[in-house]
Amino acid sequence: MIELNEVTKSYARGAEELQILRGITLHIAEGDFVAIIGPSGSGKSTLMNTIGLLDSPTSGSYTLDGVATEKMSDNGLAELRNRKIGFIFQQFNLLPRLTATENVELPMIYAGIPAKQRREQAQRMLEKLGMGERGHHKPSELSGGQQQRVAIARALAISPSLILADEPTGALDSKTGIEVLELIKELNQQGNTIVLITHDHHIAVNAKRVVTLRDGEIISDLRNEMQLTPERKLEGALS
Ligand code: ADP
Ligand code: MG
Repeated sequence: MIELNEVTKSYARGAEELQILRGITLHIAEGDFVAIIGPSGSGKSTLMNTIGLLDSPTSGSYTLDGVATEKMSDNGLAELRNRKIGFIFQQFNLLPRLTATENVELPMIYAGIPAKQRREQAQRMLEKLGMGERGHHKPSELSGGQQQRVAIARALAISPSLILADEPTGALDSKTGIEVLELIKELNQQGNTIVLITHDHHIAVNAKRVVTLRDGEIISDLRNEMQLTPERKLEGALS
């Protein structure tokens, strides 16, 4: 689904060139759940923005669902992004003046879905996230965990082929963070492809594959044999 080949990203700082991504080759299959872990400043958000088509590489190639993105126009990239990718952010990024339902409807507006269908789909998504009764609330009337549920409902609204989550539990207390992580795991079990960015090992171990970034390079890429499936958790509880 995702094919990044030798992707670099650099910025000019005066006469210097700052290399943020230094030749990232990363292939992610449909249905996978990949954590990208690395210390602050290692390039995680830059990589996520690249995968999310919010930013384009300086060099290298990126193919998403068979579509080569390098030569596409900004409009073409926006259209592809709106159709294929759902985003979840650390600070939720809900629009404060809109209700929960209206926030969930936003990506469907971009996708050109008619109003009645949008409203129904938004309600379905909120129900799926346990927020069916909160559609008329503004973000400020919701707890952090509830706001992140709304943000996840919004990410799911267009049935994206890919969900990108950048530190999705970073602004939540640990109990609420675990709940949100469990939701993300469930989405993966239902077939959603997930890329989760984190600086925290305890969070990364929830993924099926853990890619470690250091100074803009991938320094390890491991299948996580320890990912706890519900069955294994049950075995653990019984033994
Ligand atoms: P992480 O998410 O792992 O903390 P980032 O991808 O946000 O890392 O940033 C990696 C490095 O790139 C940092 O040193 C940051 O200052 C730099 N950087 C990010 N965006 C820009 C930009 N637009 N211009 C210049 N430098 C940037
Ligand atoms: Mg970051």
